[in-house]
Amino acid sequence: MITSYKDMELLSLTSKILYDNDILIKNNQLKELQNRLKTYEYPKALYTNMDEMERAFEHAVNIITEHVNDCVTYNHFEYQFMRSGSIGPGITPRQRIIISDSIITALDFLAKTKNKWGHEIAYQLVDDFNQLVESFDECGIWLNIIEQIDSSTMADLILTFIKKKLEFYILPYIALFQCGRCKTITTYLGTPSQLCIECEEIANKIKECTINI
Ligand SMILES: [Zn+2]
Repeated sequence: MITSYKDMELLSLTSKILYDNDILIKNNQLKELQNRLKTYEYPKALYTNMDEMERAFEHAVNIITEHVNDCVTYNHFEYQFMRSGSIGPGITPRQRIIISDSIITALDFLAKTKNKWGHEIAYQLVDDFNQLVESFDECGIWLNIIEQIDSSTMADLILTFIKKKLEFYILPYIALFQCGRCKTITTYLGTPSQLCIECEEIANKIKECTINI
């Protein structure tokens, strides 16, 4: 039974804590679901270690670089349409197919698959770049940009854009590793420890204790 003002205050505080806790739990559940949804979108590839993944990423980027150079840096006929007008501005329909196809191949290489699963992602990446170009164009700065750079800098710009997207938004959801100690499949593996985060923490604690002795 509530007997005093203090009790009332305590009750209100308790219900607020319960309410906050409920929101916190729901938020965490939502976050977890969102993360799971993200990871379900891509096929998974098991890598031996971070080095192998970095080498694979370098190779994937090389595949795309070669095609971007072919259709942007060295194809002056196609490049002139990137400026503005009926076909442009930005990546032209022909370049769009060539670059997207190379991204599909690169994604298959990263996921160790051969089924062209990245078709939609690849075209979306190229279209995202063009949306950026359209925004520049609408603000009247695209022509300034294109006048100040040459075709090889343009190729660099496209490549940097695609590379960042692949590195930060796609590769982390593809690459998996196996911890050298607990054998858990994980998205992170320490270098050179070859351990998952939990095992690395344990190893560090053991090390600290040994030093203190
Ligand atoms: Zn482990």
